Amino acid sequence: MTTKELQDKVCYQRDNVYDTNFRDKQKEIFDFSEDYKAFLDSSKTERLSVISAVEIAKKAGFSLLEEKTELKPGDKVYTLNRGKGILLAVMGQQTLNEGINLVAAHVDAPRLDLKPNPLYEDMSLALLKTHYYGGIKKYQWPTIPLALYGVVYLADGTKVDIAIGDKSEDPVFYITDLLPHLATEQMSKKMGQGIVGESLNLLVGSIPYEDKEAKERVKLNILKILNDSYGICEKDFISAELEVVPAYGARDVGFDRSLISAYGHDDRVCSYTGLRAICDCNNPKKTAVCMLVDKEEIGSMGNTGMQSRFFEHILGEMCDKTGASLRLCMTRSTCLSADVGAANDPTYPSVQEKNNAAVLNGGIMLAKYTGARGKSGSSDASAELVSKIRRLFDKYGIVWQIAELGKVDEGGGGTVAQFVANLDIDTIDCGVPLLSMHAPFEIAAKADVYMAYLAYKAFLED
Ligand code: MN
Ligand code: MN
Repeated sequence: MTTKELQDKVCYQRDNVYDTNFRDKQKEIFDFSEDYKAFLDSSKTERLSVISAVEIAKKAGFSLLEEKTELKPGDKVYTLNRGKGILLAVMGQQTLNEGINLVAAHVDAPRLDLKPNPLYEDMSLALLKTHYYGGIKKYQWPTIPLALYGVVYLADGTKVDIAIGDKSEDPVFYITDLLPHLATEQMSKKMGQGIVGESLNLLVGSIPYEDKEAKERVKLNILKILNDSYGICEKDFISAELEVVPAYGARDVGFDRSLISAYGHDDRVCSYTGLRAICDCNNPKKTAVCMLVDKEEIGSMGNTGMQSRFFEHILGEMCDKTGASLRLCMTRSTCLSADVGAANDPTYPSVQEKNNAAVLNGGIMLAKYTGARGKSGSSDASAELVSKIRRLFDKYGIVWQIAELGKVDEGGGGTVAQFVANLDIDTIDCGVPLLSMHAPFEIAAKADVYMAYLAYKAFLED
């Protein structure tokens, strides 16, 4: 045996997607990313992501589960969770007693929510108070163009949809920051304290209402505009969910255009690839399920988060309709917790341990465990499950990598994996590595996005 033969046999050489057979498939990789970017631009909130998902699913032949009295192999069904989550299933050749293959991703992303009583006037400017949602670095949000999305329920219960800031003719909104000339004190603070939550106030207007006798005339003028345009009164902010998000669309990055910068890669990248995978999944052996959930960024709580009983209820309904046992179905199921990971960043190498860090273009990332400091809060996939998934990916020629989120004592994070695993389902994290995760604009590599699609499709179909 030559040294090279020995090395090929026993050494683990991590791949770059472009050094594999996929080199010739750059057009497919890039074309897929065009569809993904369009999805991102039309899906800036969890509600809009679900609306986009329904459109895509309907085109692929999915119909509402509630309208089906029976389910047979090959049937494609979906059901919604309060407009903020969706579960899609392709019924398998085997019964649900054999378990399902589940891809679970989340459609919520870090952002700034408006407070229930947000509008105020100060120094003849009108502003909106925000309360950030999820883990953000607050200093990243001032001085960038922002858009406002969401729903408002008026006093009579009428629903009004709001989407301002992404069309070229739209105004945007803005959070101010101090000029450096007057920022000596601010700049001497720790980074985490330079911008505080209560300073993330959205600038929304400056023209006073014409009647000089009126109080708070700029605020009044804004309320008049809102009332004229949408029928909104100040009290209606209470029954609203309004989200402030970056106003740019997704863009290619780099001379070679290999990367995508966008708001909300976490976790719409796994949501979109999971969605496309189940739409393209035909006649799977086991029933294939893709579930897109809300509230991951704040702990997966509530009835739209992964900790909700919603998933069990729907799976139970599917078992009832096919005469299967929910208990057997769950214990024999497998889940890919489809969420993003942190790619190694050449500018910040000190937080990663390079042998166990993901790299861009390294393919889809498996994470046996997440958690922080001693795997705390992680479900820790078994060697048996990792073995099954690596053999599956190798069988389909998927380029994949294994990674941890940073050095052991550095920090950490969680996903929906632990909550799915708690249901007695074999679960492993498996998603796309990012740079600048949770920033207003995150970076993903087109090759990894495409590999996620192929990986989820192989998993659902096999
Ligand atoms: Mn995530
Ligand atoms: Mn996240």
